[in-house]
Amino acid sequence: MILILSDNADPQSPEYLQLMESLGRLPNIKTRAHRIQGTERSVTEVYLLGDTKALAIDEMRALPLVENVIRVSEEFRVLGRHKDDNRPTHFDYQGLRFGQDTLHIFAGLCAVDTREHVDTMMRALKDNGQQCTRMGAYKPRTSPYAFQGYGKACLPYVFELAGKHGIRVIAMEVTHESHVDEIRQALRATGNPTGVMLQIGTRNTQNFELLKIVGRQKEFPVLIKRGFGITLDESLNAAEYLASEGNHSVVFGLRGMKTNLGDPHRNFVDFAQVPVVRRLTRMPVCIDPSHSVGSRMAGPDGILDVMHVTAQGVLAGANMVLVDFHPNPAKALVDGPQALRLDELPQFIEDVAIAREAYLKRAELARRQLRPALSG
Ligand code: PEP
Ligand code: MN
Repeated sequence: MILILSDNADPQSPEYLQLMESLGRLPNIKTRAHRIQGTERSVTEVYLLGDTKALAIDEMRALPLVENVIRVSEEFRVLGRHKDDNRPTHFDYQGLRFGQDTLHIFAGLCAVDTREHVDTMMRALKDNGQQCTRMGAYKPRTSPYAFQGYGKACLPYVFELAGKHGIRVIAMEVTHESHVDEIRQALRATGNPTGVMLQIGTRNTQNFELLKIVGRQKEFPVLIKRGFGITLDESLNAAEYLASEGNHSVVFGLRGMKTNLGDPHRNFVDFAQVPVVRRLTRMPVCIDPSHSVGSRMAGPDGILDVMHVTAQGVLAGANMVLVDFHPNPAKALVDGPQALRLDELPQFIEDVAIAREAYLKRAELARRQLRPALSG
């Protein structure tokens, strides 16, 4: 059960202490309070864990400061959508809103290679009105002999250049807790010129100890990718690990499933599940067309498969697109064959806008269809 407290509830106030005392007297119930700091207001949610079946909703609602009471189904307690659940489906970071009602493109380098490529990439993003990017510094690779990313050595110039080009959020994978510390230190050392969305890659979706550590910090939001060989339910539970530790600013990423049934694509594209994730949880949903398709193949219409699947995901309501670009794909140290070229960036952005507009029209059409039924 979740108690939603009135806005800006002060944990030092007598009402709050009285509430906690009353909750402390409930038999076989543990409480855990989460404070979510938004730009204008803070919301406190108190989770009641244990034998909550016996608790009456009305009695809980009568407690001081309690505004709303949600009885949660067992699954995805924090991130799930439950009956009468009007908790927000968005979070704010770096002045940007990430929600089930917004869309951001994170185009950028799969792996940082040279300072010049980072500069060129970010300049192109700025010229095309973009404020987000992806930049891989820590790369989990299949072969131990393959390039593993420049790690902390590249962070200072990546962050400085982001500041120079007005990039506000960089999606960056971490595979170890030390990476989070390195990112934090490099941001401080460079004067916090940008923000970072920590990325949990598909190979680490069920690395529970990493999830707990990343979930315990609230400085950075987290993009968690779906595990490529596990069920959707298992991956959503992995996201819940982050939230159960306290970080509710979580985006869920679809990136295709590992099976030969998707051939000739690198992974079997699973963007049909965008609406499923949005229905089951309150997380914004990201799609990664690059790691799904894995090549620059194009249809007879001349549209790249990467762009086709992007449009399909956006048309289904995706909220974020993570996509590999490179100023010189032939020189990329990781995943060059799937990278789009910078001269394709304006087309990509316009193509996404077309799909987004179509999605919004489809949602409006569905709302119109529902309205007479609701009022009748
Ligand atoms: C990536 O986005 O660079 C990446 C490695 O993705 P995934 O974890 O989905 O393979
Ligand atoms: Mn990659």
